[in-house]
Amino acid sequence: MQIAGMLAAARSLGVDRLDVQLLLSHHLGQPRSWLLAHDGDTLPDAIATLCLAQLQRRAAGEPLAYLLGEWQFRGLGLQVSPAVLIPRPETELLVDWALECLTCAPLASVVDLGTGSGAIALALAAAVPGLQVTASDASGEAVAMARSNASRLQLPVRVAQGDWWEAVAGQRFGLAVSNPPYVAAGDAHLDALRHEPRMALTPGGDSMCALRRIIDGAPAHLLPGAWLLLEHGHDQAEAVRALLAARGFSEAQTRRDLAGLPRCSGGCWTPSV
Ligand code: GLN
Repeated sequence: MQIAGMLAAARSLGVDRLDVQLLLSHHLGQPRSWLLAHDGDTLPDAIATLCLAQLQRRAAGEPLAYLLGEWQFRGLGLQVSPAVLIPRPETELLVDWALECLTCAPLASVVDLGTGSGAIALALAAAVPGLQVTASDASGEAVAMARSNASRLQLPVRVAQGDWWEAVAGQRFGLAVSNPPYVAAGDAHLDALRHEPRMALTPGGDSMCALRRIIDGAPAHLLPGAWLLLEHGHDQAEAVRALLAARGFSEAQTRRDLAGLPRCSGGCWTPSV
C-alpha cells in the first residue's frame, strides 16, 4: 500500500488527515513534511498493517496519544499509556503560574500531587534547573510511567506512590501543584473520555472531594509563604477559593485558560503566629 492509499483509507474511515499523518510520521521516523513529497512511496507491509489497525481504533474513538504512545506537553515528549491521563494544553497554565511563583521564591521545593505521566513535575524540572521536584501518584502504573519519563528525559524528579499528601508524609514544600480528578462521576462528559483512567478524571459522585482533601491536608506540608495551585472544572473556581480561604490561605485567586474558562485557583499559605 502506498502512503496516498493510507491517507485515503483514513478519509474513508472518517479519521482526521493530521492524525494519520502523525501515525505515519511516527512509524516511518520521518517528519510530516517528508510525507507530502513521498505519497507515491510504498509502505513496508508491517507498517501498513499496523497503521490500518490503528486507524480502525482511532475511528472507534481511541485517543491518538495512546496509539502513538507519546504526547507533547510544554515542549517535552512524554510517554503515555491508558494508565495515565493525556496531558492537556490547559494544564500548561498551571505550570506557567507555578513558574511565576518560583521566580519570587527561587530556592523553593515543589510537589506535584497526582502526577500521572509526570507532565507538570517534569515541565517544572525542565524549566528550572536545580529545582527540587517531588511527584506523587496513587497508581503504581502512573508512578512507573512518571519515573520512566523522568529517566528518559534525564530530569531529576523524585516520584513517590501514595494518596495525595500521604505519599510525602513528614515533608514540607515551598510550592504545591495538582491537577486532580474533578469531574463528577455522573457527568456525561466522561463518556467521551472513556479510554482514559477513571481515577484520574473523577473522584466519585462529589466532584470536589479530591480538591477538598488536597486543600485540607496542605497546611501540614507547606512552608510559610508557599502557594498551593490547583486545576479544577470551569464551574468550581468559587468553591475552590472558598475552601482555600476557609483553610487559612490568603490571596485566593483564579486564572482563566486560553478558552477563557476559570481553570486554576490558588492561595498562599500564611499561617497566623
Ligand atoms: N480537563 C480534563 C477534561 O475534562 C479533566 C482532567 C481532570 O479531571 N483533572 O477533559
